[in-house]
Amino acid sequence: MRLLHFPFSAPLLLSRAGLGGLRTMARNDVLSLLFLAIATSTTCTAQPSRVVYLVPVGTVEKGLLRELAQSLRDKLGVPSEVGEPVEISKAAFDQGHNQYNSTKVLQGLETTRPHICRGRVTLPLLLAVTEVDLFVPNLNFVFGEALPTKDMAIISLCRLRQEFYGKPADTTLLMERTVKEAVHELGHVRGMRHCSDPHCVMFFSNSLPDTDRKPDTFCKRCKGLLKDNVQE
Ligand SMILES: [Zn+2]
Ligand SMILES: [Zn+2]
Repeated sequence: MRLLHFPFSAPLLLSRAGLGGLRTMARNDVLSLLFLAIATSTTCTAQPSRVVYLVPVGTVEKGLLRELAQSLRDKLGVPSEVGEPVEISKAAFDQGHNQYNSTKVLQGLETTRPHICRGRVTLPLLLAVTEVDLFVPNLNFVFGEALPTKDMAIISLCRLRQEFYGKPADTTLLMERTVKEAVHELGHVRGMRHCSDPHCVMFFSNSLPDTDRKPDTFCKRCKGLLKDNVQE
């Protein structure tokens, strides 16, 4: 199964999203369950863990990755580590698009998984982070992609940066968008689909403004689905 964060979709109901009214503790409870389940389902674990392993693909600012890991830990209760950078698969580059095929990037990362697993007690989940622009066939670009059956996902910072649109850099906004995209793709990894509630991180983003409107938390319905998934 492949789930994409599409840059477009059918018309969607949009409204200004707040934080969804979820208290921090409630979010932590749900997400802790979420990633405990991910950890126990991975093939290279000997015992449960809840670590999300952030893997920079190509050159990615380490400070930004550390901040993302810290955000996942502090805001969502998800233990996260920053891994060593890996080279992006040359085979993933498409000259016609002048972009990288995100599915091929993820497939290339599969080969590094055994290396990353070596000597580690567990490796629950790989979340690749890259600066390169991603696409999949028939789509101009994607913000990210998840491969739930592989317990891995990728997000691109390229189109989350204000500079991409000719605007001044905004590190705060970049981090907010990055956390949303990370949680969104991690939700896909856990089997979540897009949600029609604009006050939910699983809301389908037509464009970057959609991402900016939604929070980095799950709606009540998705929280329930996550719990159901964990209990299955
Ligand atoms: Zn999505
Ligand atoms: Zn939802």
